[in-house]
Amino acid sequence: MNDVAPPADNWRIIGHEWAVDFLRRALLHGRNRQAYLITGSPALGKMRLGLAFAMALNCEAEAGRQRPCFACRACAAISRRSHPDLILAGADAPLKIDDIRNVLRLLALKPYSARYRIAIFADFHLVAPLAQDALLKTLEEPAPHAIVILLATSAERVLPTIRSRAQQIPLRPIPQQLIKTQLVLSGCEEERAELIARLSGGRMGWALKAVEDEALLVFRQEILDMLRDVLAGTRLPRMKISDQLSRRAGRDKALLRNVLEIWQSYWRDVLLQCYDSPVKPCNVDRRDEIRALARRITTAKAHAALAATGSTLRALDTNANPRLALDALFLTYPGLDA
Ligand SMILES: [Zn+2]
Repeated sequence: MNDVAPPADNWRIIGHEWAVDFLRRALLHGRNRQAYLITGSPALGKMRLGLAFAMALNCEAEAGRQRPCFACRACAAISRRSHPDLILAGADAPLKIDDIRNVLRLLALKPYSARYRIAIFADFHLVAPLAQDALLKTLEEPAPHAIVILLATSAERVLPTIRSRAQQIPLRPIPQQLIKTQLVLSGCEEERAELIARLSGGRMGWALKAVEDEALLVFRQEILDMLRDVLAGTRLPRMKISDQLSRRAGRDKALLRNVLEIWQSYWRDVLLQCYDSPVKPCNVDRRDEIRALARRITTAKAHAALAATGSTLRALDTNANPRLALDALFLTYPGLDA
């Protein structure tokens, strides 16, 4: 893939213009806060925005020049994620209370080489409330050089006491057309770019990953074929699929979440088709199959399947047993065997 740089005046970020603008103005007028909470679905660009903001805060370009400049020592080190005053936490595994305390100890030190010491906490929604609470004192009495950037899927999963002390930056999905255009500019073939943009749900990070990693779309096909088998099967084969899938996922809840998101987008397409909606389906490559399914089931059944898929997704986040959750879900899916 060619590297087509997104606009530098938007901090090299595709979309999210208002968020960049907001942060830029805050910096320009010396109104930057000491804690930020960037929210939005996975692969939407939260980390990218957090890093760009860290660059803007610590960029060495002279005043009046554009910051981040993407060229100075600080910008380069932050984009490599290896700046001595940048602490990245939680990207590999959910943080425990001791991890949080360690980060805060590091954050309290004087900066080595930059204006600010910055801690970015990834996946903060996965941090247990008690561990989140460890952050409170730092947010109440922050060291003047310390900046905390929290990344989370939603603000509701962050303690209200933490939330209220942070500037919230809620990111929204970006237009599919913007994603498609960017993918085509980067050398992606038009039809493939269209499919990926539609499947991305407005998440640029996901789209880029899908272009780079063929396996992502292969997995999607496999999961949609599995749904076809579920719908064609009676109770017993359905339970078998549920068993296989939950074994395969094991402790990897991200895999099951991914599966359910794929089915959710599919049911949304089926429901749109039931309503004869002129909106193009997300799963454009499966359009005929979606049409055929919509003819065979009632709108109420499509609705119920979509709603059940969504509530199973939420249940997984609250520690539901995956096998039981899938069994229950498959009971609500319509049958096509008759
Ligand atoms: Zn710079």
